[in-house]
Amino acid sequence: MLVGGGTFIHGLVARGLITDIDYLIDLTKLPINDIVQEKKYLSIGATARFTDIESHDSIVDNKLHAAIGDAMTYPPPQVKNAATMGGCLGSACPFLDSPIALLALDAIVVVAGRRFSREINIEDLFVSLFSCSLKPGEFITEIRVPEQPANTASSFLKLETNANDLAILNSASRLTLNDNKILNPRIFVGGGVGETPVRCNQAEKVLEGEMLSMGIVDQASQVAMDNIDPLSDHRASADYRKTMTRVFVKRSLLKSIERLGVEV
Ligand SMILES: Cc1cc2nc3c(=O)[nH]c(=O)nc-3n(C[C@H](O)[C@H](O)[C@H](O)COP(=O)(O)OP(=O)(O)OC[C@H]3O[C@@H](n4cnc5c(N)ncnc54)[C@H](O)[C@@H]3O)c2cc1C
Repeated sequence: MLVGGGTFIHGLVARGLITDIDYLIDLTKLPINDIVQEKKYLSIGATARFTDIESHDSIVDNKLHAAIGDAMTYPPPQVKNAATMGGCLGSACPFLDSPIALLALDAIVVVAGRRFSREINIEDLFVSLFSCSLKPGEFITEIRVPEQPANTASSFLKLETNANDLAILNSASRLTLNDNKILNPRIFVGGGVGETPVRCNQAEKVLEGEMLSMGIVDQASQVAMDNIDPLSDHRASADYRKTMTRVFVKRSLLKSIERLGVEV
Protein backbone atom coordinates (compact mmCIF):
# COMPACT_ATOMS: atom_id res chain seq x y z
CA MET A 1 0.00 0.00 0.00
CA LEU A 2 1.22 3.49 -0.89
CA VAL A 3 1.75 5.96 1.94
CA GLY A 4 1.77 9.75 1.73
CA GLY A 5 1.46 11.28 5.19
CA GLY A 6 -0.07 8.11 6.65
CA THR A 7 -2.74 10.09 8.53
CA PHE A 8 -5.67 8.38 6.83
CA ILE A 9 -4.08 4.93 6.84
CA HIS A 10 -3.39 5.37 10.55
CA GLY A 11 -7.12 5.77 11.20
CA LEU A 12 -7.95 2.67 9.15
CA VAL A 13 -5.34 0.58 10.97
CA ALA A 14 -6.57 1.83 14.35
CA ARG A 15 -10.08 0.60 13.44
CA GLY A 16 -8.80 -2.80 12.27
CA LEU A 17 -9.81 -2.08 8.70
CA ILE A 18 -6.44 -2.88 7.13
CA THR A 19 -5.41 -6.47 7.59
CA ASP A 20 -3.92 -7.77 4.36
CA ILE A 21 -1.07 -5.37 3.53
CA ASP A 22 2.40 -6.87 3.12
CA TYR A 23 4.37 -3.71 2.37
CA LEU A 24 3.98 0.01 2.84
CA ILE A 25 5.63 2.12 0.12
CA ASP A 26 6.58 5.60 1.30
CA LEU A 27 6.14 8.15 -1.52
CA THR A 28 7.53 11.12 0.36
CA LYS A 29 11.13 10.68 -0.83
CA LEU A 30 10.09 11.01 -4.46
CA PRO A 31 10.60 14.48 -6.03
CA ILE A 32 6.84 15.10 -6.35
CA ASN A 33 6.29 17.60 -3.55
CA ASP A 34 6.83 20.94 -5.35
CA ILE A 35 4.16 23.63 -5.57
CA VAL A 36 4.75 25.74 -8.67
CA GLN A 37 2.68 28.42 -10.40
CA GLU A 38 3.05 27.53 -14.07
CA LYS A 39 1.79 29.79 -16.85
CA LYS A 40 -1.55 28.05 -17.31
CA TYR A 41 -2.03 26.18 -14.03
CA LEU A 42 -0.97 25.86 -10.43
CA SER A 43 0.94 22.61 -9.95
CA ILE A 44 0.65 20.92 -6.54
CA GLY A 45 2.93 17.90 -6.14
CA ALA A 46 1.19 14.82 -4.78
CA THR A 47 3.37 14.69 -1.66
CA ALA A 48 3.11 18.42 -0.92
CA ARG A 49 1.97 18.66 2.70
CA PHE A 50 -1.07 20.70 3.74
CA THR A 51 1.19 23.03 5.76
CA ASP A 52 3.27 23.84 2.70
CA ILE A 53 0.21 24.29 0.52
CA GLU A 54 -1.66 26.66 2.82
CA SER A 55 1.38 28.93 3.27
CA HIS A 56 2.37 28.99 -0.41
CA ASP A 57 2.34 32.35 -2.22
CA SER A 58 -0.03 31.00 -4.87
CA ILE A 59 -2.63 30.13 -2.23
CA VAL A 60 -2.32 32.98 0.28
CA ASP A 61 -4.39 36.00 -0.80
CA ASN A 62 -5.21 34.45 -4.16
CA LYS A 63 -8.93 34.77 -4.82
CA LEU A 64 -9.01 32.04 -7.48
CA HIS A 65 -7.27 29.45 -5.28
CA ALA A 66 -8.93 30.66 -2.09
CA ALA A 67 -11.12 27.54 -1.76
CA ILE A 68 -7.96 25.44 -1.27
CA GLY A 69 -6.70 27.81 1.44
CA ASP A 70 -10.13 27.69 3.13
CA ALA A 71 -10.12 23.87 3.15
CA MET A 72 -6.67 23.83 4.73
CA THR A 73 -7.86 25.80 7.76
CA TYR A 74 -9.87 22.91 9.23
CA PRO A 75 -7.55 19.95 10.00
CA PRO A 76 -5.43 20.15 13.18
CA PRO A 77 -1.76 21.24 12.80
CA GLN A 78 -0.41 17.76 13.55
CA VAL A 79 -2.37 16.41 10.58
CA LYS A 80 -1.48 19.36 8.31
CA ASN A 81 2.22 18.74 9.00
CA ALA A 82 1.98 15.22 7.60
CA ALA A 83 -1.06 14.91 5.28
CA THR A 84 -0.40 15.13 1.54
CA MET A 85 -2.73 16.18 -1.27
CA GLY A 86 -2.12 12.86 -3.07
CA GLY A 87 -3.17 10.91 0.03
CA CYS A 88 -6.19 13.14 0.50
CA LEU A 89 -7.43 12.34 -3.02
CA GLY A 90 -6.21 8.72 -3.01
CA SER A 91 -8.28 7.87 0.06
CA ALA A 92 -11.48 8.71 -1.91
CA CYS A 93 -13.15 9.45 1.39
CA PRO A 94 -16.33 11.49 0.83
CA PHE A 95 -15.98 13.34 4.14
CA LEU A 96 -12.74 15.19 3.33
CA ASP A 97 -12.48 18.90 2.52
CA SER A 98 -9.73 19.61 -0.02
CA PRO A 99 -11.24 17.36 -2.73
CA ILE A 100 -14.40 19.52 -2.70
CA ALA A 101 -12.31 22.68 -3.12
CA LEU A 102 -10.34 21.10 -5.97
CA LEU A 103 -13.55 19.95 -7.67
CA ALA A 104 -14.86 23.53 -7.70
CA LEU A 105 -11.59 24.54 -9.39
CA ASP A 106 -11.83 21.92 -12.18
CA ALA A 107 -8.52 20.40 -11.07
CA ILE A 108 -6.73 17.81 -13.18
CA VAL A 109 -5.12 14.84 -11.45
CA VAL A 110 -1.91 13.57 -13.04
CA VAL A 111 -1.15 9.91 -12.40
CA ALA A 112 1.84 7.75 -13.23
CA GLY A 113 1.43 4.13 -14.22
CA ARG A 114 3.88 1.35 -14.87
CA ARG A 115 4.57 2.71 -18.36
CA PHE A 116 2.55 5.87 -18.98
CA SER A 117 1.32 9.01 -17.27
CA ARG A 118 -2.22 10.22 -17.81
CA GLU A 119 -4.50 13.03 -16.70
CA ILE A 120 -7.86 12.52 -15.02
CA ASN A 121 -10.49 15.24 -14.59
CA ILE A 122 -10.99 15.30 -10.86
CA GLU A 123 -14.73 14.74 -11.37
CA ASP A 124 -13.87 11.33 -12.87
CA LEU A 125 -11.56 10.36 -10.00
CA PHE A 126 -14.15 9.48 -7.37
CA VAL A 127 -16.05 6.30 -8.23
CA SER A 128 -17.68 5.18 -4.98
CA LEU A 129 -17.05 5.03 -1.25
CA PHE A 130 -13.24 4.76 -0.72
CA SER A 131 -12.79 3.88 -4.37
CA CYS A 132 -11.20 5.96 -7.10
CA SER A 133 -10.55 5.43 -10.79
CA LEU A 134 -6.80 4.71 -10.49
CA LYS A 135 -5.79 1.50 -12.21
CA PRO A 136 -3.59 -1.09 -10.49
CA GLY A 137 -0.02 0.22 -10.36
CA GLU A 138 -1.03 3.87 -10.82
CA PHE A 139 -0.45 6.62 -8.30
CA ILE A 140 -1.06 10.37 -8.19
CA THR A 141 1.99 12.52 -8.92
CA GLU A 142 0.51 16.01 -9.32
CA ILE A 143 -2.67 18.06 -9.12
CA ARG A 144 -3.11 20.89 -11.64
CA VAL A 145 -5.44 23.80 -10.98
CA PRO A 146 -6.15 25.60 -14.26
CA GLU A 147 -5.97 29.38 -14.54
CA GLN A 148 -9.28 31.23 -14.89
CA PRO A 149 -10.13 34.79 -15.96
CA ALA A 150 -8.81 37.42 -13.50
CA ASN A 151 -12.25 38.25 -12.09
CA THR A 152 -12.77 34.73 -10.73
CA ALA A 153 -12.94 33.72 -7.07
CA SER A 154 -13.66 30.59 -5.07
CA SER A 155 -14.46 29.61 -1.51
CA PHE A 156 -14.95 26.56 0.69
CA LEU A 157 -16.89 26.11 3.93
CA LYS A 158 -17.30 23.18 6.29
CA LEU A 159 -20.01 22.37 8.82
CA GLU A 160 -18.55 20.23 11.62
CA THR A 161 -19.58 18.89 15.00
CA ASN A 162 -16.24 19.89 16.55
CA ALA A 163 -12.81 21.05 15.37
CA ASN A 164 -11.40 17.51 15.13
CA ASP A 165 -14.28 15.85 13.34
CA LEU A 166 -14.98 15.15 9.71
CA ALA A 167 -17.64 17.22 7.97
CA ILE A 168 -21.37 16.98 8.45
CA LEU A 169 -21.44 18.80 5.14
CA ASN A 170 -19.09 20.98 3.15
CA SER A 171 -19.47 23.16 0.09
CA ALA A 172 -17.22 24.90 -2.41
CA SER A 173 -18.02 27.34 -5.16
CA ARG A 174 -16.28 29.22 -7.93
CA LEU A 175 -17.56 31.93 -10.23
CA THR A 176 -16.41 34.58 -12.66
CA LEU A 177 -18.07 38.00 -12.80
CA ASN A 178 -18.06 39.95 -16.02
CA ASP A 179 -19.80 43.34 -15.63
CA ASN A 180 -21.81 41.68 -12.85
CA LYS A 181 -22.84 38.81 -15.12
CA ILE A 182 -22.13 35.37 -13.59
CA LEU A 183 -20.04 33.11 -15.80
CA ASN A 184 -18.89 29.52 -15.51
CA PRO A 185 -20.14 28.84 -11.95
CA ARG A 186 -19.17 25.67 -10.08
CA ILE A 187 -20.91 24.38 -6.97
CA PHE A 188 -19.98 21.17 -5.14
CA VAL A 189 -21.27 19.71 -1.91
CA GLY A 190 -19.56 16.93 0.04
CA GLY A 191 -18.82 15.83 3.56
CA GLY A 192 -21.09 12.83 3.71
CA VAL A 193 -23.96 13.93 1.48
CA GLY A 194 -23.20 10.91 -0.70
CA GLU A 195 -20.63 8.18 -1.34
CA THR A 196 -18.89 10.64 -3.66
CA PRO A 197 -18.99 14.45 -3.84
CA VAL A 198 -22.07 15.94 -5.49
CA ARG A 199 -21.97 18.57 -8.24
CA CYS A 200 -24.98 20.92 -8.08
CA ASN A 201 -25.52 21.10 -11.85
CA GLN A 202 -29.05 22.50 -11.66
CA ALA A 203 -27.97 25.28 -9.31
CA GLU A 204 -25.07 26.15 -11.65
CA LYS A 205 -27.59 26.43 -14.51
CA VAL A 206 -29.66 28.90 -12.48
CA LEU A 207 -26.61 31.17 -12.15
CA GLU A 208 -25.01 30.84 -15.58
CA GLY A 209 -25.25 34.08 -17.59
CA GLU A 210 -27.49 35.82 -15.03
CA MET A 211 -26.88 39.25 -13.53
CA LEU A 212 -25.68 39.02 -9.94
CA SER A 213 -28.36 39.62 -7.29
CA MET A 214 -29.29 38.22 -3.90
CA GLY A 215 -32.39 36.78 -5.54
CA ILE A 216 -30.41 34.67 -7.99
CA VAL A 217 -28.05 33.44 -5.24
CA ASP A 218 -31.07 32.48 -3.12
CA GLN A 219 -32.66 30.70 -6.07
CA ALA A 220 -29.50 28.71 -6.87
CA SER A 221 -29.09 27.69 -3.21
CA GLN A 222 -32.71 26.53 -3.07
CA VAL A 223 -32.28 24.52 -6.29
CA ALA A 224 -29.09 22.92 -4.87
CA MET A 225 -31.12 21.79 -1.86
CA ASP A 226 -34.08 20.60 -3.91
CA ASN A 227 -31.84 18.38 -6.06
CA ILE A 228 -29.78 16.70 -3.36
CA ASP A 229 -30.57 13.41 -1.66
CA PRO A 230 -28.09 13.14 1.23
CA LEU A 231 -27.24 10.19 3.48
CA SER A 232 -28.03 9.91 7.20
CA ASP A 233 -25.31 8.85 9.63
CA HIS A 234 -24.26 9.32 13.25
CA ARG A 235 -23.27 12.94 12.51
CA ALA A 236 -26.53 14.15 11.00
CA SER A 237 -29.82 13.11 9.46
CA ALA A 238 -30.44 13.34 5.74
CA ASP A 239 -33.06 16.06 6.39
CA TYR A 240 -30.59 18.21 8.30
CA ARG A 241 -27.94 17.80 5.60
CA LYS A 242 -30.50 18.73 2.96
CA THR A 243 -31.51 21.90 4.79
CA MET A 244 -27.89 22.86 5.42
CA THR A 245 -27.08 22.37 1.74
CA ARG A 246 -29.11 25.51 0.98
CA VAL A 247 -27.41 27.43 3.79
CA PHE A 248 -23.85 26.41 2.92
CA VAL A 249 -24.20 26.78 -0.84
CA LYS A 250 -25.50 30.30 -0.27
CA ARG A 251 -22.71 31.17 2.19
CA SER A 252 -20.06 29.80 -0.13
CA LEU A 253 -21.41 31.72 -3.13
CA LEU A 254 -21.57 34.94 -1.10
CA LYS A 255 -18.00 34.42 0.11
CA SER A 256 -16.73 33.94 -3.45
CA ILE A 257 -18.61 37.09 -4.50
CA GLU A 258 -17.23 39.06 -1.55
CA ARG A 259 -13.70 38.06 -2.61
CA LEU A 260 -14.36 39.75 -5.95
CA GLY A 261 -15.02 42.97 -4.06
CA VAL A 262 -18.64 43.14 -5.21
CA GLU A 263 -21.62 43.93 -3.00
CA VAL A 264 -24.83 42.00 -3.55
C1 LIG B 1 -7.19 13.89 13.64
C2 LIG B 1 -7.53 14.08 12.18
C3 LIG B 1 -8.25 15.20 11.81
C4 LIG B 1 -8.57 15.41 10.46
N1 LIG B 1 -9.29 16.53 10.12
C5 LIG B 1 -9.59 16.72 8.83
C6 LIG B 1 -10.33 17.86 8.43
O1 LIG B 1 -10.69 18.71 9.23
N2 LIG B 1 -10.59 18.00 7.10
C7 LIG B 1 -10.17 17.09 6.16
O2 LIG B 1 -10.42 17.26 4.98
N3 LIG B 1 -9.49 16.00 6.51
C8 LIG B 1 -9.19 15.79 7.82
N4 LIG B 1 -8.52 14.68 8.16
C9 LIG B 1 -8.19 13.70 7.11
C10 LIG B 1 -6.92 14.06 6.37
O3 LIG B 1 -7.21 15.10 5.45
C11 LIG B 1 -6.44 12.83 5.62
O4 LIG B 1 -6.08 11.87 6.59
C12 LIG B 1 -5.26 13.17 4.72
O5 LIG B 1 -5.62 14.05 3.71
C13 LIG B 1 -4.72 11.90 4.05
O6 LIG B 1 -3.49 12.23 3.46
P1 LIG B 1 -2.21 11.34 3.76
O7 LIG B 1 -1.10 11.86 2.91
O8 LIG B 1 -1.93 11.26 5.21
O9 LIG B 1 -2.74 9.96 3.19
P2 LIG B 1 -2.28 8.49 3.56
O10 LIG B 1 -2.87 8.08 4.87
O11 LIG B 1 -0.82 8.34 3.39
O12 LIG B 1 -3.00 7.67 2.38
C14 LIG B 1 -4.42 7.67 2.24
C15 LIG B 1 -4.80 6.77 1.07
O13 LIG B 1 -4.34 7.33 -0.15
C16 LIG B 1 -3.41 6.44 -0.81
N5 LIG B 1 -2.37 7.30 -1.35
C17 LIG B 1 -1.46 8.04 -0.67
N6 LIG B 1 -0.72 8.77 -1.53
C18 LIG B 1 -1.18 8.47 -2.79
C19 LIG B 1 -0.81 8.89 -4.10
N7 LIG B 1 0.16 9.79 -4.33
N8 LIG B 1 -1.48 8.37 -5.15
C20 LIG B 1 -2.49 7.48 -4.95
N9 LIG B 1 -2.88 7.04 -3.73
C21 LIG B 1 -2.23 7.54 -2.66
C22 LIG B 1 -2.94 5.48 0.26
O14 LIG B 1 -2.56 4.24 -0.30
C23 LIG B 1 -4.19 5.38 1.12
O15 LIG B 1 -5.11 4.48 0.53
C24 LIG B 1 -8.16 14.45 9.49
C25 LIG B 1 -7.41 13.34 9.86
C26 LIG B 1 -7.09 13.15 11.19
C27 LIG B 1 -6.28 11.93 11.56
